[in-house]
Amino acid sequence: MTEIKKYGFTTTILHSDRQKPIEHGSLHKPIHTSVAFGYRDARQLAEVFQGKQPGYRYGRQGNPTVSALEDKITKMEQGLATICFSTGMAAIGAVAQALLREGDHVVSSAFLFGNTNSLWQTVNGQGAKVSMVDATDVKNVEAAITPATRIVFVETIANPRTQIADLKRIGQLCRDRGILYVVDNTMTSPYLFRPKMVGAGLVVNALTKSIGGHGNALGGSLTDTGLYDWTKFPNIFDSYKKYAPAQWGMAQIRAKSLRDFGGTLGPEAAHHISVGSETMALRLDRECANALALARMLEADDRVAAVYYPGLESHPQHAIASELFSRYGSLFSFELRKDIDCFDYLNRLKLAIPASNLGDTRTLVIPVAHTIFYEMGPERRAEMGIAESLIRVSVGIEDTDDLLADFRDALSG
Ligand SMILES: *Cc1c(COP(=O)(O)O)cnc(C)c1O
Repeated sequence: MTEIKKYGFTTTILHSDRQKPIEHGSLHKPIHTSVAFGYRDARQLAEVFQGKQPGYRYGRQGNPTVSALEDKITKMEQGLATICFSTGMAAIGAVAQALLREGDHVVSSAFLFGNTNSLWQTVNGQGAKVSMVDATDVKNVEAAITPATRIVFVETIANPRTQIADLKRIGQLCRDRGILYVVDNTMTSPYLFRPKMVGAGLVVNALTKSIGGHGNALGGSLTDTGLYDWTKFPNIFDSYKKYAPAQWGMAQIRAKSLRDFGGTLGPEAAHHISVGSETMALRLDRECANALALARMLEADDRVAAVYYPGLESHPQHAIASELFSRYGSLFSFELRKDIDCFDYLNRLKLAIPASNLGDTRTLVIPVAHTIFYEMGPERRAEMGIAESLIRVSVGIEDTDDLLADFRDALSG
């Protein structure tokens, strides 16, 4: 991957497909819809099945269009290899399903995307144990580790309250203890931050969000950064030990999760995400600038009770964010003064759309406690710092002044 060192982020993405021969000189890797891949020589088919030579066999385990996207994400994260999944949750589910066994233990940040929180509850009931800790301080992670701990899982900036994990120190701790460090990079994206810098072994990206960027395709990925020594991982099946140790993790995940559970990314979605990713840096520069302007304006208004955005000096982890991330992200959340009803406020917005997604080109807003965090109930919400009136804003690429006016005008209802 010498091209990474030579070229910048966007150039690398734009010219990624061409690094391998493309049919007819196409500039994009075409959408391959064939489910099966045929070979004239049946022995060759057998060798592909046995992993003795590269090639595609059946679309559930791999597809050329999806592979081209996997290569792109590997370059973005400066990793070794990537596997794509049908959604971000399928990627996170694959970590649990392919890598954990009965009696294993996971330490997870308590500040999590709601569905990941729900997934860890499921895992907890299936023989592995998950401890949820305040991961903004490495001491809490360290205190929760047991001899059975296989994985430490954190988000970079937690969705939706924007707490930032003690990323570097947790990385060091995991390295010292030989524990696999899994970082969900969705909220920062590889444009703002590479978890490899802090020692992550596996990186999760929900491609649905900033990487695809247009709210028109679901997808997820896992990238192996190459930093984790898989020979220290006790749960690798013998079948995957025939490969070089650096490949063990991805070989097991591709087989045990993608092949056996089938959360496969379709080629059409992969194409949408690939094209979307070409403008990722341009979109994120604009979205992050808009988010900072909005967060600053709301923080200065006395009708707003609290604003949570890592770009604000008032954010408890502002210093960590400034040190590690090139920008502060496209998402913030805020609480209105008690006498302003959050539903009435949302209904007065003319541009921002009440909808559940993030990383879209359009600005989206959602009353968190009543929607995406409704199922978990008030107690767990309180633990995660989610007030009943919390509004999450995923900031789009609209013109800054239009957004500022929309959020300001809605305050004076
Ligand atoms: C959205 C999201 C996911 C899940 O992605 P889907 O593609 O919606 O399944 C996982 N983690 C974070 C931080 C997210 O924001």
